[in-house]
Amino acid sequence: MADYTQMWTELGLNHDNHNALLENLGNAYQSIFMTQENRPEGMSYFDFVMSEAHGLRIQELREEQEAGRKIIGSFCVFVPEEIVLAAGCTAVGLCAGADFAQEEVEKVLPRNTCSLIKSFFGFKLGKVCPYMEVSDMIVGENTCDGKKKSFEIFKDMVPNFYQMDLPQTKTPMARQMLKHEFQSFVEKLEEMTGKSISLENLKQGIATVNAKRQALRRLSMLRSADPAPISGLDALLINQIAFLDNPVRFTEKVNALCDELEIKIKENKGAKSSDAPRVVISGCPMAIPNWKIPSIIEATGAVIVGEESCIGERGQRNLTDDSANNIDGIMDSIVDRYFKIDCAVFTPNQERVNHIKEMSQQYNADGVVHYGLQFCQPYIMESFSVEKQLEKENISVLRLETDYSQEDMGQLSTRVEAFVEIIK
Ligand code: SF4
Ligand code: SF4
Repeated sequence: MADYTQMWTELGLNHDNHNALLENLGNAYQSIFMTQENRPEGMSYFDFVMSEAHGLRIQELREEQEAGRKIIGSFCVFVPEEIVLAAGCTAVGLCAGADFAQEEVEKVLPRNTCSLIKSFFGFKLGKVCPYMEVSDMIVGENTCDGKKKSFEIFKDMVPNFYQMDLPQTKTPMARQMLKHEFQSFVEKLEEMTGKSISLENLKQGIATVNAKRQALRRLSMLRSADPAPISGLDALLINQIAFLDNPVRFTEKVNALCDELEIKIKENKGAKSSDAPRVVISGCPMAIPNWKIPSIIEATGAVIVGEESCIGERGQRNLTDDSANNIDGIMDSIVDRYFKIDCAVFTPNQERVNHIKEMSQQYNADGVVHYGLQFCQPYIMESFSVEKQLEKENISVLRLETDYSQEDMGQLSTRVEAFVEIIK
């Protein structure tokens, strides 16, 4: 990586903390990703993006800013990228997948807060996230109680916070509320940029995001092949990078990788051995660099064939219809697309269980690992009924509850190994 010290200083990063984070990240990446066998050649692009995630990509975002674009950071797949792009802005996901500055965090948040929330507080307090610092606006959405209450504190730590309210049910009234929130978001972006969002801008934004979702969908479908042509770790990484990279370039690279995977499938070449047990992971999102559970699962010789998660299929499922010929109609299509997201903050949420069943069948899975972050009430509460309903269909389930620390690695490995033995 080139020397980006000056850029990091200008962004206000803490050099010592940031260097420590980069070193840990680099070591984890080397040992988890670069030691895998049978990796597709197309993964070299994603390795490069990761190696430059705090360097070249941030430089690109700053160049976009100099050219007049605003950078919009967000934490949730409910923030519509179509609208961000239509406003001439760039969307970035704010990763929250590692513990940082925990002592500082626990001075402002209760200890029993989920790791994801603690993580973005730690990244802010430790001054280590260039994406957070480069963002012209940070959008926080009212999803779970943990997030919405923590945003009351977080909003005073950043100069540019925007709160988006979200429904918790799928009633007609809730849909109306979502539309109202998306319209307010349009107004906010228009006010920020000083430009109106046109029908054409919206259609262009939809085309870009739909193309990205289609590429990710193509990648997902290829994993139904037996043997699966790509490891779950690499596929998860691609889904994580989807939140950081330039969307058009990313789409091209995912499609190029899929071309390569199609050849591998024809040649019957898999990422793992052909008798590898096949696992679907379901539950909380795994933000960069949270690779803990997938690395434990794949270290047993099993292969992950799908992620029922926002960083995975829950986030990319469903395209936005762009056929309406007026702005209100397009806004309705955007709302309809997002209203289908089956996050555990919704009640009731039967669609999610149905999707897990569908994914298990589609990807020919031998079992489901349900992943819940400690203190995440929505997903952990839901995991009981998910387990019950899947077991009724004879789908084996392992429910795991963990955090970002490494302390329970041994115990988790033992449980995962036993589960993989059973589903073999
Ligand atoms: S799990 Fe729910 S709150 Fe989290 S990113 Fe997904 S939709 Fe948003
Ligand atoms: S992991 Fe659970 S508790 Fe944490 S932010 Fe997401 S939904 Fe909320």
